[in-house]
Amino acid sequence: MALVRSEGIVLKTHALGDTSRIVVVYTRDHGLVRLVAKGARKSPSRFGISLEPLSRSRFHFYFRNDRELHLLSQADTLVGTGIGMAELPRLAHSQAALELIDRLVWGEEPHAELYDLLVQALDTLAAAPESALPAITIAFELQLAALLGYRPRLDACAGCGSPLSPERWFSATRGGLMCATCAASEPGLVRLSADALGGIALLLSRPIREAGDHLEARRAGEIQRVVEQFLRAHFHRFEGLRSLEVLRSLPAAPGTKNPPAGAAPGFRGDASVR
Ligand SMILES: [Zn+2]
Repeated sequence: MALVRSEGIVLKTHALGDTSRIVVVYTRDHGLVRLVAKGARKSPSRFGISLEPLSRSRFHFYFRNDRELHLLSQADTLVGTGIGMAELPRLAHSQAALELIDRLVWGEEPHAELYDLLVQALDTLAAAPESALPAITIAFELQLAALLGYRPRLDACAGCGSPLSPERWFSATRGGLMCATCAASEPGLVRLSADALGGIALLLSRPIREAGDHLEARRAGEIQRVVEQFLRAHFHRFEGLRSLEVLRSLPAAPGTKNPPAGAAPGFRGDASVR
């Protein structure tokens, strides 16, 4: 049993008995870990806001390879991201980023690049204009999947590698665009608009902090639908972003023609499904 130290972001917490807490943290050096914070419910001031979901903190804990739970010794807050975040859409999109890590990442394998991507996504979500939030979430979904080995194929047929069909048929299960031959026999294809395809390509390859520049709010619904279908096909623990469901009941923000992705009740783009 070794006392280790790592920076991490709190995904969620559960009560443990009357006085303690289990804190689920995505750490930079040890991947996803579950820490027991003894006495955290009895004397919350001991840990301050370091154990709150969205907080980025430095954790000192007794790491045991053969155990699922590790004993927390100390936690110091680095950035209290969620504290004071008053706007519901911003909070919902930030929680969606945590939910994606919780659903897509499995086990204690550390992945520094993935950790840094989460930090970048949360920092961007905290500061970006509200209209950019859906684009940031979609960029994070795409880049997270790519880092985990599921990068949508957009340069050639995901089925056979041949040149693409001009109709832009996308298969979530095959993991990308299709040629005319494969498309003819593939069920469940979505036909992407040229704008949606361009948006997906940029959100996948450009830095997350630029995401708002690459996607018109009115296209977000179309792209998010396709991206979530893709995630469902490749990550069996992903069942759609529950954190964004709270936004569906909200009216559209003044000055926007269409509600942001996550608020859209229907399919807003001109993609067709067959
Ligand atoms: Zn093909």
